[in-house]
Amino acid sequence: MEQLSHLINGEAVGSERTLPVTNPSTGAVARQVADADAATTRQAVAAAQAAFPAWRDTPPAKRAQVMYRFKQLLETNAERIVQLVSEEHGKTVEDAMGELKRGIENVEYACGVPELLKGEYSHNTGPGIDAWSNHQPLGVVAGITPFNFPAMVPLWMYPMAIACGNTFVLKPSEKDPAAAMAVAELLMEAGLPKGVMNVVHGGREAVETLLEAPEVKAISFVGSTPVAEAIYARGCANGKRVQALGGAKNHAVVLPDADLDNAANTLMGAAYGSAGERCMAISVAVCVGDSTANRLVESLKGKIDELKIGAGNTKGLDMGPLVTAEHRDKVLGYIEDGVAAGASLVADGRGLKVPGFEDGYFVGGCLFDHVTPQMRIYQEEIFGPVLCVVRVNSLDDAMQLINDHEYGNGTCLFTRDGEAARRFTDGIEVGMVGVNVPLPVPVAYHSFGGWKRSLFGDLHAYGPDAVRFYTRRKAVSQRWPSSYETTQAEFNFPS
Ligand code: NAD
Repeated sequence: MEQLSHLINGEAVGSERTLPVTNPSTGAVARQVADADAATTRQAVAAAQAAFPAWRDTPPAKRAQVMYRFKQLLETNAERIVQLVSEEHGKTVEDAMGELKRGIENVEYACGVPELLKGEYSHNTGPGIDAWSNHQPLGVVAGITPFNFPAMVPLWMYPMAIACGNTFVLKPSEKDPAAAMAVAELLMEAGLPKGVMNVVHGGREAVETLLEAPEVKAISFVGSTPVAEAIYARGCANGKRVQALGGAKNHAVVLPDADLDNAANTLMGAAYGSAGERCMAISVAVCVGDSTANRLVESLKGKIDELKIGAGNTKGLDMGPLVTAEHRDKVLGYIEDGVAAGASLVADGRGLKVPGFEDGYFVGGCLFDHVTPQMRIYQEEIFGPVLCVVRVNSLDDAMQLINDHEYGNGTCLFTRDGEAARRFTDGIEVGMVGVNVPLPVPVAYHSFGGWKRSLFGDLHAYGPDAVRFYTRRKAVSQRWPSSYETTQAEFNFPS
């Protein structure tokens, strides 16, 4: 059976210890992936450390040229990459193409790095003194990524980190590592020197080794909140710069004046696209007034019945399976819990069988009405095709509900009322906000990040914040005295 190797110093490095990767549409093992121990992970860090001095000194415009070639290679190899995403994650090929395109946008942004790294300059800050500040790379940076965007999330990180002059060690999700590996190989093909980009596969042991390695100066993490919080605490305690993006529970508020057809249509994609396995998926619809709720539930129910669900690589579907049998069982457990807690299960996706794919990890679209904030299905991230409807009396009540939730990744308001939209966008305690846009994922030249327990750290992912995260500022003051000037000792603080 095929084994996916590590990429260390430009070479494929195999491993005796491996982990199985399943195809969630069939339940069969697709391949084995190498599982890095501490020694292998340290080897990758050492390769990145050795490559740093020369890469740091490579002019930014030359680094950008590698990114231009990388972008072209990603476009010409897109079909192959999305097949790998779909095979291991289960999402539809069209959805996988969407993720890859959003990833490529980050490479495009990195192509502008000479402009982004331009510093500030002040002439004559004192007699004969000029001052400037610039951005310098940190050294070795590590990235640890989740299963749900196996192509895109790594691309949030290393194109900018590397374009800024750092070297990189990526630890992709062990559940679907093949796409991240294929993409990293294209970066090498684009002309990146050996050791600048390294990939180690595996789980906890690899991550803990990266957290302990003194050469690793910064860590970008994306995944679930408990792991994000632990990585943030340990990385910071070890003196590293850390950004750790965590889980979510994203609410969409529907006001009585909203265009209900538009809200229902776009909510379908936001709640059930990628089988709900998106950190920006809408998992709660907060309806203001019973009439709004009744109309929305009626409309959604009809659409859920028509969802086209099947193996991810079949074209023209709406959603595929969940990523693993374990995750499917967790989602089913939440559905049981919601029923036991007294929520009305208006659409029940349990027991779905896809002909020809009976061993796949499928769960159909589920819709709960009359959900209350006390229920676990409201409080916790389910990460499956389950939408909860909560009924409230006013926009203020809806905003209070959202502001009281532990997560603050994304949210959306459906309305035709500009005043309500302004109040919502100003007062809501969430990092990414949409008005009639249920998946307000920022484009690559803005930055991505949640508030509260959806992000640990100060700087968001990609965009302008990535330049700040992957570099440090240096301020230089310089004086070149004329040969006839004699410098006097100055004992007072210079002013
Ligand atoms: P996860 O936390 O289980 O795994 C993420 C990464 O951490 C993987 O590479 C994994 O190998 C590693 N890991 C897991 N447990 C670890 C441990 N105990 N110690 C060290 N490393 C560990 O997350 P997942 O299931 O792969 O992804 C889904 C989660 O990611 C969801 O909670 C989702 O909301 C979140 N997510 C957040 C964003 C965001 O931008 N905020 C984006 C995508 C996904």
